[in-house]
Amino acid sequence: MNLRTLLRIFVVGCCLTWPGNAVSDVTPPVLPRPNILFIMADDHAANAISTYGARLNQTPNLDRLANEGMRFDRCFAVNSICTPSRATILTGKYSHRNGVPVFNRFDGSQPTVSKYLQAAGYHTGMIGKWHLGSDPTGFDQWMVLPGQGVYFNPAFLVPDGRKVIPGYATDVITDLAINFLKERPKDKPFFLMCHHKAPHRPWEPDAKHQALFAGKTIPEPATLRDDYATRTDALHENRQRVFDDLTRRDLKLEPPADLKEPARTQWLGGQPTEVQIEVAGKPMILRGEALNQWKYQRYMQDYLACIQSVDDNVGRLLDWLEANGLRENTIVIYTSDQGFFLGEHGLFDKRFMYEPSIRMPLLVRWPGVIRPGSVQDALTINADLAPTFLAAAGLPVPADMQGGSLVPLLKGERPPNWRSSFYYRYYHDPGHHNTRAHYGVRTETHKLICYWKKDQWELFDLRNDPDELRNLYADPAQQPLVAKLKQELYRLKRELKDEDQFADQLPPDGVDGPFPDKKPIGPKPH
Ligand code: CA
Repeated sequence: MNLRTLLRIFVVGCCLTWPGNAVSDVTPPVLPRPNILFIMADDHAANAISTYGARLNQTPNLDRLANEGMRFDRCFAVNSICTPSRATILTGKYSHRNGVPVFNRFDGSQPTVSKYLQAAGYHTGMIGKWHLGSDPTGFDQWMVLPGQGVYFNPAFLVPDGRKVIPGYATDVITDLAINFLKERPKDKPFFLMCHHKAPHRPWEPDAKHQALFAGKTIPEPATLRDDYATRTDALHENRQRVFDDLTRRDLKLEPPADLKEPARTQWLGGQPTEVQIEVAGKPMILRGEALNQWKYQRYMQDYLACIQSVDDNVGRLLDWLEANGLRENTIVIYTSDQGFFLGEHGLFDKRFMYEPSIRMPLLVRWPGVIRPGSVQDALTINADLAPTFLAAAGLPVPADMQGGSLVPLLKGERPPNWRSSFYYRYYHDPGHHNTRAHYGVRTETHKLICYWKKDQWELFDLRNDPDELRNLYADPAQQPLVAKLKQELYRLKRELKDEDQFADQLPPDGVDGPFPDKKPIGPKPH
């Protein structure tokens, strides 16, 4: 243990015990608290990061974070879509406690991690994709994409209006993050949330990164042609399938030049059943299985190219920290708001409680505290991030936050009472992809899912069936386990105060929030 580490532990210890020991006549040393740089991508699956063993791409800069810090192998979103996950990350609370179960507007008057850090003297910033409807609160500076934002020449909302910045979104957001760091008051620690739009749909890479993947053959996942046998109606009814639901716009097909609006938009939004491509200068029509294979390649080539730009830009930020003497006292976190299907179960998108959708990549570098190259397999959730930032800053974690601080895990300690299961709940039914609402429990070894509107269940043994292909719920031999998992599910619902009557407040089918029985909250939506 070096001097810096000893000093930091001492300072954190002092902060944690104030003001209880304020009677002491020893003046506590004033040492810098760690800066926190939180980089979040949108829809970045761990399976598209090489340190996670991805066979698809190389991400040297993300790998560098893992090599110099800790890789979390089992971090999960508790409601796997963009807006709810962002609200959970800000509040440390589940959707039913922060009021954002679907795409409804975030009530910016509630406590958030940025408000706590700001009140404690941190200089706080939010740059990039926000997607919470209301204006950011608790930030000294913010520049956010309106809604989903766009990849090229993005507009940003700022406190006094709107600004368009030419360039590619991932580069621009990184430039703005570096500007925030350059211009920050040097006498305060900083907390910066740098949120990329990439690699969210419509997967539009810049030319440089697109060229890296053009014509490359990406390996297909083993479950791309999953027949959904033994699974409930939910998978059969979903509409987020690579072969059936990707649109001409997703596949970057050019509409006929003479097509006028609105027929042009309709054409782009349609799902092609045949596509003409050129092979060696000659036209070729693709249909059936040949078309399916082509669709998967088109999807993945663009998705991975968007990620390559994120990886480059993470490298730029890490280099900037290093060149400016900020490497040692800055905690750098990289994550995504949830996972993403890269063809597993034949799907793109997320939402379902299956592993590729709920699993978040989480890489943390904290020099002097984390042993470089460490790997963490404790069950962790997105609600843990806010408590972690507060604890790392030496601040108490409010009792109403539902996640737990990861700081002990970062130090290589596993608290004996660390969670052995977690609760998940998805509400957005039918949403954009006809996904059924469900809740469930995941333990170290099993997963039980309830599609509550239909009273249909799925049980998976994650040790023997990691791809979640065999639903064991109806197996007579599994009934003692089913009973035990139901007990755990209901225990978690009670502990998290997720009342069942909340389900009645959900928007009717086909309607995205806000809840019909709730008045609009917060400032006017963008
Ligand atoms: Ca997302």
